[in-house]
Amino acid sequence: AEAREAYIAARPKSAAAYERAKQVMPGGNTRSTLYYSPFPTAMESGQGCYMKDIDGHDYLDLCGEYTAGLFGHSEARILKAIEGAIGRGLNLAAAGERESVFAGIICARFPSIELVRFTNSGTEANLFAFSAARAFTGRQRLLAMNGGYHGGMMTFAGGGSPVNAPFPVTLAPYNGIEATRALIREHKDELAAIIVEPMIGAGGCIPASREFLQMLRDEATAHGIVLTFDEVMTSRHSAGGLQKLHGITPDLTTLGKYIAGGMSFGAFGGRKDIMAVYDPAHPKALPHGGTFNNNVLSMSAGVVAMGEIFTEEASEAHRARGDALRDALNAVCRKHGVAMQFTGVGSMTQPHFRSEPILRPYTQSATEEGVRELFFLDLMAAGIYIARRGMTALSLPVGEAECARYIAAVEAFCVARKPLL
Ligand code: PLP
Repeated sequence: AEAREAYIAARPKSAAAYERAKQVMPGGNTRSTLYYSPFPTAMESGQGCYMKDIDGHDYLDLCGEYTAGLFGHSEARILKAIEGAIGRGLNLAAAGERESVFAGIICARFPSIELVRFTNSGTEANLFAFSAARAFTGRQRLLAMNGGYHGGMMTFAGGGSPVNAPFPVTLAPYNGIEATRALIREHKDELAAIIVEPMIGAGGCIPASREFLQMLRDEATAHGIVLTFDEVMTSRHSAGGLQKLHGITPDLTTLGKYIAGGMSFGAFGGRKDIMAVYDPAHPKALPHGGTFNNNVLSMSAGVVAMGEIFTEEASEAHRARGDALRDALNAVCRKHGVAMQFTGVGSMTQPHFRSEPILRPYTQSATEEGVRELFFLDLMAAGIYIARRGMTALSLPVGEAECARYIAAVEAFCVARKPLL
């Protein structure tokens, strides 16, 4: 309660902004992810890996816009690309030259992507990828992971049939090899696609085992099911995503977040024969309009972001920095003997307030939820901005000094809150 009081007292302008927002938007927000009680901190500006809120506090930004902010705020080369595009006219309603350059960069990098199409978000990418799978297989059902997140229309937390997915879904236990294989075989004649995050992101930065992904690959091949890797978040973990790191190639891949340098973006791509359902020359071509699919800002920023900045070497170095950070955080937890651990891959990390190995998303106890809120509040008080659920997604400007600052803040939390951990 004390930490909450301090949070509220320090943020009168954010509190007022929230009151105004509630008058015109349900719950006062337009992005469910960004709402938390008592009210979200409203940000004013960002530079590099630092941000300022509207009450004047400075933060080290480790949220990294939930992975979309990979390049940090106002990266000079990306700004230049955007400024150049703005000067040439925004809405041309025509094919451009940059989209095929950008598509070429993506096809060259991701082993599974022979052909690609752009969307405006990861959600759309997943919906259109699944439409392709349905058209290609003539089947209707999706197998997804319980606790997986593929966008607002494909949110599979909490078990049971999701209310908002506009198609039949079977939910399987992440990393549960035997149980998932049995479900696939039970529904094999109905399944158009299997969708999986090779590391569950929003559900807790929980990596899939290589064996689990290989089992999905084998079963999908055996039963003619379209294996889809949602790499909207995990594509950053190597030049060619987690699929390249694991050496397992899905049939379709979906992308989003950082790839257009921080401009709105989504994409789906994969095998030529499946993607051909979007070729207007296909006898049963599927529609995929999308006014902003090739918008000049995303296309221009994306070419520079992926072609020049987030090179193969940059992605390897970034993963190594994240792995080292997570090792250091876990060493702090062990040193203080607390029931707390950090999971993830490379630059994406999530704290969990329990000791047992984390194989799949779980329902937190009320105590865990309380500690998680305290973790967030203590870090905000220390001037470190993380996702409310605790996730951090390092941006490229985050260096050794910033990592050391986060490690010290986590250590301070372990010491101050030890009785609760
Ligand atoms: N897929 C994954 C794995 C995600 O993490 C997200 C967003 O967090 C999405 C899809 C949806 O992307 P968007 O928010 O761009 O619709």
